[in-house]
Amino acid sequence: MRLRNIPGSRDVIAESEYVVHDFKAAKGNWRELFGNDNPIRIEIGMGKGRFLCDLATLNPDINYVGIEKYSSVLLRAIQKEEEVRLPNLKFIRMEAEEIAEVFANDEVDRIYLNFSDPWPKDRHAKRRLTSRQFLSRYDRFLKKDGVIEFKTDNRDLFDFSLEEVKEAGWDLDEMTYDLHHDERLNAGNIMTEYEERFSQKGNPICKYIISRK
Ligand code: SAH
Repeated sequence: MRLRNIPGSRDVIAESEYVVHDFKAAKGNWRELFGNDNPIRIEIGMGKGRFLCDLATLNPDINYVGIEKYSSVLLRAIQKEEEVRLPNLKFIRMEAEEIAEVFANDEVDRIYLNFSDPWPKDRHAKRRLTSRQFLSRYDRFLKKDGVIEFKTDNRDLFDFSLEEVKEAGWDLDEMTYDLHHDERLNAGNIMTEYEERFSQKGNPICKYIISRK
């Protein structure tokens, strides 16, 4: 997602109390940052942040961190957060490749990847957020019993992602090629902005949940 450049978005981000600016200093210190010992769950590539805003509203005893690389997109999430003011939701503007610099061992108990960029060219496979390279980054800070939940309507990206799960030696706990028609997996599903858009077009939504035991 890339919105047109919005003048002043960098200033708004720089001043927002909801954005963690020095994210490398936050590593290992997220409990102090949130002021409690509640579990921490993150969405990488959160877009305008509605999914996390909804989750943070529903679950005040869980802390959420949204990661987004574009300031024009993050601005939208901040604007929403300024209206609802959730103490358990923070944002970082960063490129996800650096994610292992942000969280220490066992600091995160769930990672959400929703409608991640497909990077269709083979030579860009390692940039996909579900690639083996990213799984090995996640392995460094995700709790031992933690899970990754991935949703996409892009079947090629999903098939690639399933292969990478196997290749990286993770366990496939759950999967469906049509989430919205899978009563069990769809129970309690929170729709993302892209999910709403693509399912309205008639695209089935694929989802997996993975872990390593
Ligand atoms: N998760 C949202 C948005 C999906 S679009 C939803 O489901 O509605 C994918 C988002 O991920 C875009 O906003 C894009 O800028 C962001 N993104 C993609 N690759 C990224 C990366 N490597 N690091 C940080 N953000 C990334």
